[in-house]
Amino acid sequence: MSQYWNPKGETMSRDDLRALQLLKLRRMCDWAYARSPFHRRRWAAAGFHPDLLKTLDDLRRIPFMTREEWMAAQAEAPPFGSLPAVPQEAAIRYHMTSGTTGRTPLRVLDGTKDWEWISEMWAYGLWGFGLRPADVVLFAFSYGTFIGFWGAHYACEKIGCLVLSTGGATTETRVRSILDTGVTAVCSTPTYALRMWQAACEMGIDLARDSAVRKLIVSGEPAGSIPAVKRQLESAWGAKVGDTAGMTEIGTIMIFECDRQPGGTHIIEDHFIEETIEHGGDRPVPYGEKAERVVTSFGRGFIPLIRYRTSDLVVKIPYSSCACGRTGDLYQGGIQGRWDDMKLVRGTNVYPRAVESIVRECAAVDEFQILLTREGVQDEIAVVIELKPGREDHWPALETRLLKDLAEAHEGLRFGVRLAEANTLPRFELKAKRLVDRRPAAEYH
Ligand SMILES: [Zn+2]
Repeated sequence: MSQYWNPKGETMSRDDLRALQLLKLRRMCDWAYARSPFHRRRWAAAGFHPDLLKTLDDLRRIPFMTREEWMAAQAEAPPFGSLPAVPQEAAIRYHMTSGTTGRTPLRVLDGTKDWEWISEMWAYGLWGFGLRPADVVLFAFSYGTFIGFWGAHYACEKIGCLVLSTGGATTETRVRSILDTGVTAVCSTPTYALRMWQAACEMGIDLARDSAVRKLIVSGEPAGSIPAVKRQLESAWGAKVGDTAGMTEIGTIMIFECDRQPGGTHIIEDHFIEETIEHGGDRPVPYGEKAERVVTSFGRGFIPLIRYRTSDLVVKIPYSSCACGRTGDLYQGGIQGRWDDMKLVRGTNVYPRAVESIVRECAAVDEFQILLTREGVQDEIAVVIELKPGREDHWPALETRLLKDLAEAHEGLRFGVRLAEANTLPRFELKAKRLVDRRPAAEYH
């Protein structure tokens, strides 16, 4: 069996890849111009027409597309707005973003072809990390309106795996199912994979010893590529952890970690163009530097996504950084966070992911929270820690170490480090929110 799901697409030369991308870009732009009022109106206003696409560099003539524009179009003509290029009657799936309170969710539609493509992209990633027909895969996923692992479920069927969906099950039931059905691979968020392991410990189960799980496929949070989190999960489960990332706007994943685990995720470049652009500007950013990802997708005819600004923080590195033979470039450390997650504290940039990677180096930490407050005129930042049961005597050394490591990683910025009572911090199954900003909001908008 090939190590690639699509050997031709995943290993074609960079020249062939660029030619294919240009072809697909033209086709997608022609389609969007003819069928999506949203794109036609915006492009006309910006003086762009698909006929201007002579080379791949002409991509830069297309105006960026933002979530705000999409949301405005949706609000103007609810429920789906003017973006869809196909009438609603032809759709077979309707999904929404998970939508935190007060924020209107983004609504997406898919036709049969789109849905087939969505599972195909997941198949690239799941197969690439080593899933094979003999695998028994458990999904710790709610199967609700959030698109999440839906496509991965269908990809497993495509590959020929035995699939266990556990929407609505308790964590204990999921752990029990893993043992009872000989599950060999689990799909969940990194946070929830930790939660399942903790629940198993409380049930007297050692997942590394007692379960057959050898692969964890994680998605939904940047933590899947944080080395400390990965190490902790790998030793807890006795399994390899593979990172993937997608978004509701795309409906599926656009990057995945291959089984060589090169410390980054391959971009599926025969189906996406991923540009790295300076955040808030339009200058292309070279390999190795922090950038915002801007995505163009070729797979979803219903809602054409062309030069969409994601606000995801990434560092692109060339395909030669991985020895697996794929010719898709990589994002070093996966999605490294979101540009709008960055907090300015007393003149220093703080990224929640960077804090998490330091905190997770300490094996005694169970859960944590980053707390921003204002005392008088001064901003304060504190990390509140909950220890694993029975690890209380680790605290004094841990406190000293965290104070030192956090300050060193942030230009000397002094963090408070506090101990919380057991089970007082919030737990998450999906999209963990560990940063709480209690500073007066007005000045930060
Ligand atoms: Zn690779």
